[in-house]
Amino acid sequence: MKEKLSKTEAKKEIKDFFENIKNKTPKEIKKIKKLAMKYSIKLEDLRKKFCKKCYSPDLKVKSIKNKIKTVECKKCENVMRWKIR
Ligand SMILES: [Zn+2]
Repeated sequence: MKEKLSKTEAKKEIKDFFENIKNKTPKEIKKIKKLAMKYSIKLEDLRKKFCKKCYSPDLKVKSIKNKIKTVECKKCENVMRWKIR
């Protein structure tokens, strides 16, 4: 990753990163989140691709009901709920 990026480049970097999220480590995810913050880029749905507690991308869907998706982190067992639009 280059040190100085334009906002467009940073966005592309983030997009590419999340296409391969399953092969990333929590450390790398933390770094990309920082990058997004630095460039004020909203992750929106991308932030649902990793655990907000330990940054592991290893999540499993537990249930989907009443338009609420319940996802559990396989690593730290943190449970997250997302509204489905
Ligand atoms: Zn976790």
